[in-house]
Amino acid sequence: MPLPARLVLALVLASALSGVHADDDALARARALARDAVIVDTHIDAPGMLAHAWADLGEAAPDREFDWPRAREGGLDVAFMSIYTSAREDREGKARQSAHAQIDAVEALVHRHPDRFAILTSPRDVERLRAGGRVLLPMGMENAAPIGDDLSLVRVFFDRGIRYITLAHSAANRVADSSYGVERRWNGLSPFGRELVAEMNRLGIMVDVSHVSDAAAAEAIALSRVPVIASHSAFRHFTPGFERNISDELAKAIAARGGVVQVPFGTAFVNPQAASDLQAKYRARAALDARNAAAAAEGRALEDARAFEEAWDRDHPTPRTPLSAVLDQIDHGVRLLGIDHVGLGSDFDGVGGELADGLRSVADFPNLVAGLQARGYSDADIRKILGGNLLRVWAEVEAGATAR
Ligand SMILES: [Zn+2]
Repeated sequence: MPLPARLVLALVLASALSGVHADDDALARARALARDAVIVDTHIDAPGMLAHAWADLGEAAPDREFDWPRAREGGLDVAFMSIYTSAREDREGKARQSAHAQIDAVEALVHRHPDRFAILTSPRDVERLRAGGRVLLPMGMENAAPIGDDLSLVRVFFDRGIRYITLAHSAANRVADSSYGVERRWNGLSPFGRELVAEMNRLGIMVDVSHVSDAAAAEAIALSRVPVIASHSAFRHFTPGFERNISDELAKAIAARGGVVQVPFGTAFVNPQAASDLQAKYRARAALDARNAAAAAEGRALEDARAFEEAWDRDHPTPRTPLSAVLDQIDHGVRLLGIDHVGLGSDFDGVGGELADGLRSVADFPNLVAGLQARGYSDADIRKILGGNLLRVWAEVEAGATAR
């Protein structure tokens, strides 16, 4: 090879290698911050998955997005376990049983690995319990369905460790309307829903307005004596018309009262095309369910719901979504609300693996940290986003409790 060509090759290689080194240095810096900071993720659907397919999450469980080794690798300290029940379980009267069984599964994890996990019921215990490398497992109840219409059960679930309740999920329940639901049963909260918010305030359970309709969220934010959270809601700014994501107006109302919006990593929330597909799918499925209910009442043959779902998913492939889409969400939240009102609620194990690139499991928080550092966030500000903001809100909710 002639000398000039070799020189050019050497220069190209040298610059490529220095680029690699710069990336390595950046990731090492991000890893160090992720390890040192308290990272709080307010939404991981591991318990619901355990109910269907058991795994020991204290050991490597590569087919899941949350396990202890990868939580440690990613620097995750406080992993809210989602005690999720579906609208269907509610209709079939199975939600309460399902919630108790999922809480049992979280307790079993801790009993199996007391050196690796601990249940967390107060933000005051974070530093003490995370010493030695434990990953802490507070619990949030996604869908108030297990409460039924019995307010005394709020205390029962508080005593079992529930520290936030998402008022509804994919359909209106006894408490609130859902953002996905066609039916608006209450035009906001039900009378029982208003009592529930007061009881949650009294006990020190965070009110979570993710998933509920705009009217229900507005009512809950106004009614709560203490700050509220959106445990896993992206900003609707990027996905116009997708009510499941939070509007700027409601996000500002949450922030004005001291609360926090926790940004998810799921493609369906942070990618506009995926969001509009999901919204359309929920509407089409609800219409199919209504037709089937009518058909059943009249003794006619039912349409095949599973075939509908399969065809829909085939016709609407999930678009690739870069990590920058999640960083854009955080940027928007910080610009709109200030640095003290944005956090993280990944939705790991809850979205069928449909996640932004670079955010595939709890091992990947350093990628997010590196992205925020590259965008110029200070380490102190990143610590607030990673967990400081959520822990502040939780402490305020706890301090506002009057029941103990
Ligand atoms: Zn959810």
